[in-house]
Amino acid sequence: MIYLDNAATTRTAPEVVEAMLPYFTENYGNPSAIYSVGATSKKAVNEARRGIAGVIGAKQEEIYFTAGGTEADNWALKAVAESNIHKGRHIITTKIEHHAILHTCKYLEKRGFEVTYLDVDRDGVIDLGQLEAAIRPDTILISVMFANNEIGTLEPIGEIGRLAREKGILFHTDAVQAFGQIPIQVDELGVDLLSASAHKLNGPKGIGMLYVRTGIKLSSLLQGGGQERNRRAGTENVPGIVGFGAAAARAMNIMEQKAAKERELRDYLIGRIETEIPYCRLNGHREKRLPGNVNFSFSFIEGESLLIMLDMKGICASSGSACTSGSLDPSHVLLAIGLKHEEAHGSLRITLSEENTREEMDFVVEELKQIVAKLREMSPLYEDFIKSLG
Ligand code: PLP
Repeated sequence: MIYLDNAATTRTAPEVVEAMLPYFTENYGNPSAIYSVGATSKKAVNEARRGIAGVIGAKQEEIYFTAGGTEADNWALKAVAESNIHKGRHIITTKIEHHAILHTCKYLEKRGFEVTYLDVDRDGVIDLGQLEAAIRPDTILISVMFANNEIGTLEPIGEIGRLAREKGILFHTDAVQAFGQIPIQVDELGVDLLSASAHKLNGPKGIGMLYVRTGIKLSSLLQGGGQERNRRAGTENVPGIVGFGAAAARAMNIMEQKAAKERELRDYLIGRIETEIPYCRLNGHREKRLPGNVNFSFSFIEGESLLIMLDMKGICASSGSACTSGSLDPSHVLLAIGLKHEEAHGSLRITLSEENTREEMDFVVEELKQIVAKLREMSPLYEDFIKSLG
């Protein structure tokens, strides 16, 4: 199997599993307990918290564990909305956010909030002028993702942070795809809230975090016990948190080499596809892009058929985000960058890890060439197109 869907999820690293195991077996104590096996869990949770805070230059007490990226996104938006209702009801986000943000915005709209969805250009980058123009006296939050999960484009987070600071508006970023992959410093960037998820950086699924800058008023996500400093009740997922901590430490150790290797493979793959497969288009910004992201649209091709045929060759890839695969709607991200419905349907997302090799990329290109040619042979649209060429 050649696994090329690391934006959907990653392999849990062996050292992460190893770090977690004792917290299922001998160290199963509740971190709130007084006795020593409880204290061991509490210590492990706080060590993980410290390490995770270090990844983004935050303080330990600014990290709140959640059950993943979706929960962190929901919490950030709903709680900022609720806690700032006296200031205003206007939120600014983008058209290319993950559904964890977009559907939460829809939920808030039904409850009387107003949301501006910023456009993006052909590469998926927001326009800072449009953002500034969208700011109103009642704007309470700007939420713009760090890196897009489908096309890999990086947004101008530092500039957005500066603008938000200048205008006195809170700034949240969904950094689920960027955390642990590229350097992030919340103070330098002016980020007030940030979401991350462990399973995107070789950690376990079902654990994530919300960074909340000290001093920000934010209502609790869940009511119950006093865990997470009264903001997120419920007995801590100790093995998950320990795994997230181990994954964060590992990500920091390998970040530079991993990113360099993925960039090289990414650009090699992009180069070969562009020169060897006609009528294709690279989606996302060529340089301002996640190290491991490759996204192409192939004209006259149905993305689902492409994925099935790649799977038959042992290649795991995606046609968009995992959450939307299975639905017949074209990706909202690809439509937002200006692709036509049929172009959006013919898209392929390949997301790399440091374990991939150049040989695998060669194999993928050879298979892709054959599959694309075969699918085009079956396409009446392609036939018409070729005839039109004369
Ligand atoms: N935000 C982005 C940008 C994502 O890519 C994802 C996952 O695909 C999420 C949020 C949701 O994270 P989780 O799967 O941890 O709920």
